Amino acid sequence: MTELLFRDDAYLKSATARVLDVQDGVVTLDRTIFYPLGGGQPGDTGFIIRDNGERVAVTDTRKGAGPGTVAHHLAAGATSPEVGEAVGLEIDWDRRYALMRLHTALHVMSCVVIAPVTGGNIAPDKARLDFDVDIALLDAERIAGGTNELITRAVATETVWITDAELDARPELVKTMSVQPPRGAGRIRLLRIPDIDLQPCGGTHVANIAEIGGIQVLRIRNEGKRNKRVEISLKG
Ligand SMILES: [Zn+2]
Repeated sequence: MTELLFRDDAYLKSATARVLDVQDGVVTLDRTIFYPLGGGQPGDTGFIIRDNGERVAVTDTRKGAGPGTVAHHLAAGATSPEVGEAVGLEIDWDRRYALMRLHTALHVMSCVVIAPVTGGNIAPDKARLDFDVDIALLDAERIAGGTNELITRAVATETVWITDAELDARPELVKTMSVQPPRGAGRIRLLRIPDIDLQPCGGTHVANIAEIGGIQVLRIRNEGKRNKRVEISLKG
């Protein structure tokens, strides 16, 4: 198991850990601040710092093969740390923080466009949600204006845990049809933006929606019968 430090504190930029396993340039640690690809949010990049000071680049982070593990993918040809070694961790914070702001912005936008969400993706420079809705109902100015108005409320985000049974009793919480929340662990993590949004999400978010600053709609496009895509970026 890898302890997921970003779950309790998404603002950790560095930490220490111990190497549990190394296989073909993939490192497993006992704890990590690196978010693994999932829920439309890409995996973190950064460095593993060896006890001799050598900085080894992590080019991608994925869910590991073992249950509850995280796979840190090293740059091709990099020297791997050794099993048992105490290492330092450092994520590319500018990239991650942009992802956190855009990710949280999508939560807010999903409360402005009232329609089932059929997909979504986040990159450091832009993010998108796909909706099952008549494209004529999607107006760029109204979406940006409505989202930015909610952002000015500057409310703190909260993490809430509920049981599988509680989620079953409230199916309306699951807005994203393409990404069902992970089951079986007995409890499910929700992101709550008070009076705005509440939905299952395992990603990393900003502590206060004011940190998003504001968004702009880059484009609205037809990507299929049930996929009307709204692409956004951070403003300024
Ligand atoms: Zn989220």
